[in-house]
Amino acid sequence: MADRIFKTDAEWRAELDAETYRVTRQAGTERPFSHPGFPNGPGHYACVCCGARLFEGDAKFESHCGWPSFSRPGGNIDEHLDLSHDMIRTEVRCHRCDAHLGHVFPDGPPPTGLRYCINGVALRFVPEGETGEGAP
Ligand SMILES: [Zn+2]
Repeated sequence: MADRIFKTDAEWRAELDAETYRVTRQAGTERPFSHPGFPNGPGHYACVCCGARLFEGDAKFESHCGWPSFSRPGGNIDEHLDLSHDMIRTEVRCHRCDAHLGHVFPDGPPPTGLRYCINGVALRFVPEGETGEGAP
């Protein structure tokens, strides 16, 4: 896992556009089908806030739920119990910068049976061979 980084709320607000800030720093949810056409690799998905490697491109699958979905974590993922909105869910955050990414549900494909349902605005696709800006 990468070392943690910490920035103040004001710093994040200055660095990120309004929608990215709302989703990643205020645990928002983007509208479904906001990010069609994310590739399945080769490459990986990095945290838009800090560049940490989060999911491998080949873990992405088409869930038809409206958000990019992954069948396994690729690293730098923290999971937290989320009791908001009268639901019991598992929130997924970036281990490095604590960005809210989305949630993980137990209805994914085998072998993991997991569906990491992630806001596209929180992700940046990094093609194979590129390390990605700010990658740990
Ligand atoms: Zn991050």
